[in-house]
Amino acid sequence: MLETLMLASWIGFTAYSIWYLTAAKHYFPITVNEAKILWKIHKQHIGCTAKKWRIIKRGDNVVGFECGCGYRHLQKRPIVSGAPALNVNAKMSQTAAFDKLHTSYKSK
Ligand SMILES: [Zn+2]
Repeated sequence: MLETLMLASWIGFTAYSIWYLTAAKHYFPITVNEAKILWKIHKQHIGCTAKKWRIIKRGDNVVGFECGCGYRHLQKRPIVSGAPALNVNAKMSQTAAFDKLHTSYKSK
C-alpha cells in the first residue's frame, strides 16, 4: 500500500519536473533595443544605479538581460502586455473621455 503511494508520488513528481523543464521555460525572443528599454525600466522602477548590463541569449535569440546589480529578467510572455503599453492606453482613454465631454458640450 505504502509502496503504491510512493510510486504514485514519484510519477507525479517526475511529470511535474518534465513539465517545468519544458513548458515553464518557454521564452519569447526580444530585440537588443527592447532589452535595453526593459533594463532602463528596471532601473527606474527600483532606483537601481548599476552602470553595466548584459544580454541573456538562448541560442540566437535575445530573451532577457542581466543587470549589474544581479537582477535577471527573462522575457516569458509577449512584450506587448508590458507596462509601457498600459500607459499609452491610459492616455488614449483620457483623450477619448475628453473628446466625448467636449462634443456633448458642443451639441447642447
Ligand atoms: Zn539593477
